[in-house]
Amino acid sequence: MDALLERLRAGLPAEALITDPDVTASYAHDMASFCDAGTPAVVVLPRSVEEVQHVMRTATALRVPVVPQGARTGLSGAANASDGCIVLSLVKMDRILEISPVDRIAVVEPGVVNATLSRAVGELGLYYPPDPSSWEMCTIGGNIGTASGGLCCVKYGVTAEYVLGLEIVLADGRLLNTGRRTAKGVAGYDLTRLFVGSEGSLGIVVKAVLALRPRPPRQLVLAAEFPSAAAACDAVCRIMERGHTPSLLELMDRTTVRAVNAMASMGLPESTEALLLCAFDTPDPAADLAAVGELCKASGATEVVPADDVAESELLLQARRSALPALETVKSATMIDDVCVPRSRLGAMIEGTAAIAEKFGLTIGVCAHAGDGNTHPVVCFDHTDPDESRRARASFDEIMALGLELGGTITGEHGVGVLKKEWLARELGEVGLELQRGIKSAFDPLGLLNPGKLF
Ligand SMILES: Cc1cc2nc3c(=O)[nH]c(=O)nc-3n(C[C@H](O)[C@H](O)[C@H](O)COP(=O)(O)OP(=O)(O)OC[C@H]3O[C@@H](n4cnc5c(N)ncnc54)[C@H](O)[C@@H]3O)c2cc1C
Repeated sequence: MDALLERLRAGLPAEALITDPDVTASYAHDMASFCDAGTPAVVVLPRSVEEVQHVMRTATALRVPVVPQGARTGLSGAANASDGCIVLSLVKMDRILEISPVDRIAVVEPGVVNATLSRAVGELGLYYPPDPSSWEMCTIGGNIGTASGGLCCVKYGVTAEYVLGLEIVLADGRLLNTGRRTAKGVAGYDLTRLFVGSEGSLGIVVKAVLALRPRPPRQLVLAAEFPSAAAACDAVCRIMERGHTPSLLELMDRTTVRAVNAMASMGLPESTEALLLCAFDTPDPAADLAAVGELCKASGATEVVPADDVAESELLLQARRSALPALETVKSATMIDDVCVPRSRLGAMIEGTAAIAEKFGLTIGVCAHAGDGNTHPVVCFDHTDPDESRRARASFDEIMALGLELGGTITGEHGVGVLKKEWLARELGEVGLELQRGIKSAFDPLGLLNPGKLF
């Protein structure tokens, strides 16, 4: 430990190092409850690429594990510390280095908060689409680490679609540049894409070139109430089948609606079994919403209410963004699933989840990026009750098994981390897993980067 600190201090300013155990302990976890986390030896907050290189050279020389972190809003334990590790928090590297309206790119450091970038490019008439509900807190580095999605992905796609190039500090401290800042480019293997979603296991992102789009018109939202989740899912299929391009298509079940009202007094309709939010940012959103409203009615919607204006639309989005924090208040603890299925199987996924909740005698609230088929069944339980905790974990696992059975994936956007690592092998199969392990060891032969995650 003394040797580690001495070597780190040789290349870092004093304020970049935290050694007080009470403070370092606060960096042990992301926001996933019940994932194992170790005790870090030290937390480092670098401000430059050179400082990150110094940390990685030191870690390699002394064989010390390194856990990269952004804002720690992750929901799979992917940023959790391991015993004796260096926590490498990138939040102080938070400069927007360039925004180019001609090239339609932004060049940023990894600690830039998602909403800060969105606002900065918005002022220039540009748009950075990936918008996780945690956008006011989470960082671009963390978004790249988890390949995060968000509310607008049904139309604009996820983080992976917007990362053009990366600057990476490798495990041994060397600097790697991947990708491009051009509109096109196919030179060699696509290492950029490989890093997106790699959960800090292959290298440290120190700079990113991100694609931007022209800012679309402000979106208008419609809320539709349904007598069952199956009817709401039927509406989702009809909307997509008819070729509509909503900029948002989100679902909240009754448990979620009630939790949001209880937490934030949003006045959402509590008698509904499922509330569908649909938005358009097209030149004539009112006309598109009217057409979608008819499809919702044909699927059995009992109420269809288009928002009057942008302010009312924003309130509905806020309600959807607060779904996960609201469900966390239902009981003392939650486990948040992230199963994504082909959207044609969304109804089967949500009905199957209700059956699992009944089987285990648990409350499971579901909110979903319905247009993507990406469900977040949230198992709410009392963590002081051992039997309820056991049932919660068993139901969480059955939900993932159901997702795979329906042709889906165990994680649409939150990543594998610690929470789902036993399930990764099932999804990838033996050959897939072996090749992925080979890739990991090509980049990180000593296994120092974020050990214990993914595999
Ligand atoms: C209320 C709430 C709502 C959420 N909604 C969404 C949502 O809609 N969509 C969604 O996808 N997620 C959502 N999330 C999950 C979370 O916000 C995202 O996974 C986010 O991308 C994590 O960013 P972060 O900065 O907090 O990263 P962290 O949690 O700190 O880290 C995430 C991963 O990235 C790695 N990492 C971080 N920085 C770097 C770097 N510079 N180089 C290499 N690796 C790095 C870490 O090691 C870790 O593996 C939500 C979370 C909360 C709490």
